[in-house]
Amino acid sequence: LQAQAAPHIVLLPSPGMGHLIPLIEFAKRLVHRHHFLVTFFIPSDGPPSEAQKSTLESLPSSINSVFLPVSLNDVAEDARAETVISLTVLRSLPCLRQELTSLVAKATVAALVVDLFGTDAFDVAQEFNISPYIFYPSTAMCLSLFLHLEKLDQMVPRDCEYRDMSEPVQIPGCIPVHGGYLLDPVQDRKNEAYRWVLHHAKRYKLAEGIIVNSFTDLEGGALKALQHQDEPGKPPVYPVGPLVKTGSTAESKNEGCLKWLDDQPLGSVLFVSFGSGGTLSCEQLNELALGLEMSEQRFLWVVRSPNNAANSTFFSVNSHKDPYDFLPKGFLDRTKGRGMLVPSWAPQAQVLSHGSTGGFLCHCGWNSVLESVVNGVPLIAWPLYAEQKMNAVILTEDVKLALRPKANENGIVGRDEIAKVVKALMEGEQGKEVRNKMKDLKDAAAAVLSENGSSTKALSQLASKWNNNEGKPCSLQI
Ligand code: UDP
Repeated sequence: LQAQAAPHIVLLPSPGMGHLIPLIEFAKRLVHRHHFLVTFFIPSDGPPSEAQKSTLESLPSSINSVFLPVSLNDVAEDARAETVISLTVLRSLPCLRQELTSLVAKATVAALVVDLFGTDAFDVAQEFNISPYIFYPSTAMCLSLFLHLEKLDQMVPRDCEYRDMSEPVQIPGCIPVHGGYLLDPVQDRKNEAYRWVLHHAKRYKLAEGIIVNSFTDLEGGALKALQHQDEPGKPPVYPVGPLVKTGSTAESKNEGCLKWLDDQPLGSVLFVSFGSGGTLSCEQLNELALGLEMSEQRFLWVVRSPNNAANSTFFSVNSHKDPYDFLPKGFLDRTKGRGMLVPSWAPQAQVLSHGSTGGFLCHCGWNSVLESVVNGVPLIAWPLYAEQKMNAVILTEDVKLALRPKANENGIVGRDEIAKVVKALMEGEQGKEVRNKMKDLKDAAAAVLSENGSSTKALSQLASKWNNNEGKPCSLQI
């Protein structure tokens, strides 16, 4: 008897490191725990960035990756990130079709998994009779909003922005949130980016399942509402989180910042980073530098050159100018020994798991939050773009894992406020409280990922569905 080859799972990440990284972690689980074969098809309008390359180089051999080239030359320069991301996926479909034709000729493909902006690929999945799934790399709260968005859009008059509503938005299962804190692309309902988000949100019910990178102890209410089968056709939701990058030696070899951390006292360093895309204005960069200096704490700061767009490096990761040129005069000398700067990109997973790291000033990107959770590192919430303001609401008002500095009337967080909050996190009573909460959540995260934990079980359920090829007949009528 010949053993049957393991089924194949196709993963299609939309552009952005924050979308690729958790999908890779998901792929590793599928391969190591459930023995699937995995192929990444990666829509891209240019050569891979250094960050993408080093991440993909660390993949095990049972995971393939193939780039799907697209051209975005005609896309307006002021198009929002969500428009660019959605167009990249849409334009990769002819290429995806070709690649899938050769893959299905030699393998059984059990599922096509896209992320939050990839639902246009479902049309191709249907052509090949492959089951469509979504991997949602952000919060259960944001997923709940996506599933609720069509209703919200119908309920709220067209000429009213969500941020102008007098009542907070009640997302099923979540704490009420002010409309102004909802994710960026829904802040301007006339913009193309809003139409894209609504387009995807409507198509979520075509998925045979939605995998979400969260867990009950972190987002109990939202997950309960998502798993409640109150509407016909609502896809089953699989909470498999926290799936986070654990860091690879290939990526971190010769990293000076890790050697520097080795020489610092236990839990003494504040890590300061704004994800793959985050940038500050010139004035804010200056205040942050002076605030860190005034706090008299040790810090490791991933610094990028300033920009007035909060997500200016989302597609490229790297600054185009030397970020050190924009720091206050004498800053480097005055903080020598106590502060360490890394331009553009640091091995964050290793930094957060290092014993010397005692706090994280974070832009509230969901991967960064989860990486902090699994390492028990308490947060300072500094949301910038995408759905980060919503994430900050969860962190500061719901689960209370973060302190939050206040901006002044000009929207700038001043140096005194920064110094005060940094000190409070690293040395104060408030810091102790969030640190203890974070420790509890770290244990809860380890429990859900253990052999009998809820996330392990959710993944096994999904795997057996894929192994047994159980799908509902795919209908693309909405
Ligand atoms: N990251 C990193 N080094 C950096 C900045 C980011 O390794 O200097 C990784 C980080 O560990 C996380 C991902 O990039 O896994 C960023 O995802 P997140 O959801 O936090 O934010 P986004 O970049 O999508 O805004």
